[in-house]
Amino acid sequence: MLLRLLEERRPLDAVIFYDTGMEFSAIYRLRDAVKPMLAERGVEFVELYPSEPFLYSMLEREVKNRDGSGTHNGYGWCGGPCRWGTEQKKLQAIRRYKSSVGDAVVDYVGIAADEPQRFEKARSEGKRLPLVEWGMTEADCLAFCRSRGYAWQEDGIDLYDILDRVSCWCCCNKNIGELRNMYHLLPAYWENCGRFSIESRAP
Ligand code: SF4
Repeated sequence: MLLRLLEERRPLDAVIFYDTGMEFSAIYRLRDAVKPMLAERGVEFVELYPSEPFLYSMLEREVKNRDGSGTHNGYGWCGGPCRWGTEQKKLQAIRRYKSSVGDAVVDYVGIAADEPQRFEKARSEGKRLPLVEWGMTEADCLAFCRSRGYAWQEDGIDLYDILDRVSCWCCCNKNIGELRNMYHLLPAYWENCGRFSIESRAP
């Protein structure tokens, strides 16, 4: 979405990168590749972070039990019905940023043309969906980026060849095929996930 907005010279004041701290290295490299391109065009690059470190929220912070019986440590793995990293932390940080610049902000959001289940909510919040306007599916977007020379390289592998979606490396939305690929092809990330499982079970 960003590449095509720039190519079409659509109005663009700022690009927000929300850093969970749990992105694949490939994502940080792409961020660093995009920054000079934005600077050259006078587009501000804004990096936002969660209010507390991701791992602290996941494993350590004191959280009240739903049944009122006491507390436990950490929200646990993020993803599925418990997407605290997105629903709470990311949206909170973006809302805070937007109110700091004035709420009359036009948001471009990269929802693809083949994600109709996401249209209604985004539109009801006044967001613009350029990919939908262009009729670009997720596969079209990937092909577009690759045609411009972008790749998500990690240990000689393009992440989009082994994952359906490149989200946080510890995201528990990953399906069994993606997890299998991580186990075989990205063992360092896999081992880190195993380490967190042990820590989250520790008394
Ligand atoms: S990508 Fe997954 S782990 Fe990361 S914030 Fe979103 S739901 Fe949570």
